[in-house]
Amino acid sequence: MEAILPGSTIGVLGGGQLGRMLAFEAKRMGYKVVTLDPVPNSPCGQIADKQIVAEFDDFDAAFKLAEMCDVITYEFENVNVEIVEALEEENRLYPRSHVLRITQNRLQEKEFVRNIGIGVVDFCRVECSEDVESGYRKVGLPAILKTVHGGYDGKGQVVVESEEDLKRLNIKGQTLIWEKKVPFIKELSVVCARDVRGNVVTYPVSENIHRENILDMSIIPARISKEIENRAKEVAETIAVKLDIVGVFCVEMFLLKDGRIFVNEIAPRPHNSGHYTINACVTSQFEQQLRAVCGLPLGSTKLLSPAAMVNILGEGRGNSLTGVDELLQDPDISFHFYGKKEAMARRKMGHITVLADSVEEAIKKAEQKRKQLKWV
Ligand code: AMP
Repeated sequence: MEAILPGSTIGVLGGGQLGRMLAFEAKRMGYKVVTLDPVPNSPCGQIADKQIVAEFDDFDAAFKLAEMCDVITYEFENVNVEIVEALEEENRLYPRSHVLRITQNRLQEKEFVRNIGIGVVDFCRVECSEDVESGYRKVGLPAILKTVHGGYDGKGQVVVESEEDLKRLNIKGQTLIWEKKVPFIKELSVVCARDVRGNVVTYPVSENIHRENILDMSIIPARISKEIENRAKEVAETIAVKLDIVGVFCVEMFLLKDGRIFVNEIAPRPHNSGHYTINACVTSQFEQQLRAVCGLPLGSTKLLSPAAMVNILGEGRGNSLTGVDELLQDPDISFHFYGKKEAMARRKMGHITVLADSVEEAIKKAEQKRKQLKWV
């Protein structure tokens, strides 16, 4: 298949920050970008050559995007899968819809991972009160009940620690997944890319710290043994092949005390825990996504420096961020801001990446320096 070369146009379904960072790389490499998002002047739309303002289930708008583009990708996994299916019949679009079908559904995703011989936490499907009984018997407590569709950053999740919590549960005919809550010692993720020819590259393993279910800090390289690092990468590489994915994706994992690794989630797109690659790797995850979907050779994933990335979240009490000038007095900090108007509480507004000689130093700096930023 011929490569899609600079000068061509990339279509991006979704106009959020991931699309924005993809668009920056695309523009740098000489591509044009068209994005589709219902919110005018979206983070990606601000960088793209054109934004089609339309809902994600608008077939006509999606076909209009396809007419303007040489290849299409998406920047969030809850895009309309029927639209993706319709578009991929006549257009180059990656990752393909079969990947979305699996990753949009937590149950299918976990079954897929288990079926290819990779560890997942114990789980079962729950649809009614009787299923709660059997979930209790089969999987036990403590548990997390998660929605099968559409949950991210901990949305749609209920923690069930005790039988008392269980009694208070009210399941009204929605399909949920009953998952064993595991005492992990670390959360890890691996960003991985596979091209149209089947070549696979993995980035260094990231160690992730979540606060209130939202990614707070990523530390790279993760503070784990070489053996665990290799196994985590192998998990991602196996998923790449078995999922037959083309594009960048991320596998989130739990590491247990006894060395077991359980896959929690697969995101079929660049990932928040891979933002450090912009500053700390030869090829960023966004450039890699372009290379993969355009049929170009994949780039080096080499880590150039230990790094820590922290998210800047909105707090719901002001939309202006102060302290950026003080922050940037440190020459090893890179500041990224997504151009969102309203800094609602918990909304991802930007991030900073700190490069340092050691991860310990990067973590310390990231924690200290972030305090200089204040919403007013
Ligand atoms: P998720 O929406 O599945 O990505 O979950 C968000 C966060 O909740 C994860 O990053 C973990 O910190 C926590 N979590 C999710 N599932 C489990 C589990 N089975 N056991 C323990 N913690 C979990």
